[in-house]
Amino acid sequence: MGSILDAPLIFSIDSSTQIPLLGAIHFGIVDRGTNLLQIRPTTLCNMNCVFCSTDAGPFSNIHLKHTLVDPSYLLSWVSRVCSFKGDGLIAHIDGVGDPGTYPWLFELISGISSLNSFEEVALQTNGNMLSEPQISRLAQAGLSKIHLSIHGLDTPQTKYLMGMPGYDISRILRLCEHIVSSGISLWLNPVYLPGINEKGVEDVLIFARRIGASVGLQRYNIHRYGRKASCKPQSLWKFRQQLRQWECRFSLRLLHAPHDTGIVRRPSFPIVFQRGEKVYANIVGPGWFSRQMIGVCRNRAITIENCSNVIGDLVRVKITSTKHGIYLAELS
Ligand code: SF4
Repeated sequence: MGSILDAPLIFSIDSSTQIPLLGAIHFGIVDRGTNLLQIRPTTLCNMNCVFCSTDAGPFSNIHLKHTLVDPSYLLSWVSRVCSFKGDGLIAHIDGVGDPGTYPWLFELISGISSLNSFEEVALQTNGNMLSEPQISRLAQAGLSKIHLSIHGLDTPQTKYLMGMPGYDISRILRLCEHIVSSGISLWLNPVYLPGINEKGVEDVLIFARRIGASVGLQRYNIHRYGRKASCKPQSLWKFRQQLRQWECRFSLRLLHAPHDTGIVRRPSFPIVFQRGEKVYANIVGPGWFSRQMIGVCRNRAITIENCSNVIGDLVRVKITSTKHGIYLAELS
């Protein structure tokens, strides 16, 4: 294991912990009832974006513990879920942090590609931790698509938006060109902050068209635990109007339907609890927020809120949410 796992704020999950990799939102596998599986190996992020919906990054005040999942253990669970979901799957490696920080990205992508259940292996990242040689290696390992967060081209503004004085947009732009030349499909994903980065988004659209990248624009929204940018979110209607205008002006497709991305409905991995049900769970680790702990029951991870119990305790909980196979509970 690398030294990052020895850091006191890292909670490591491997086969020795036997923590199920289904059920939590911040690690493991999330199956929302389509052919796309979200694969979440880490909660770490190296940026501190002013609009981050999960308040991730090194300056976060609310995420004091980070989770890292061992790649072999994660692959064993991915394989288990694939045997239920079938073929033609999309692996979407993302997270509440940035998977570019994951020390075993190459091993994870090689392992996923070798399963033969996936027709696409995609990575969501800010690109900051990736180098050109790494991109070439990841392409050879089977990485077929990168969704890259980039919110403008202007140096001072991008440093401000990413919340990091060391952020180097010119390096990221060179990386984008290298991604395209490596044969990986590149999607640029700017967050549009009305009144802040119109010009930045337009620069990204021109850049995308020049290098042959696609664009998936994201609407800024306020999230309960996210950081708030100094602008008001647009309604969906207004946002789509803006996309239509930009589509005409820049001759780029910006309004995408789910089938454009190959996502189709598919039965979900079985939900094993009912909302309101009371069960006993073993406490096995910390949650993503303080005052959350992870409990295990019926081979699923359950996030128990307002919980001050410690690892090893057996607690009785009431399941409060089962949406998308993500289990939340409270002490009962
Ligand atoms: S928006 Fe993405 S890159 Fe920025 S801090 Fe959040 S997780 Fe990290």
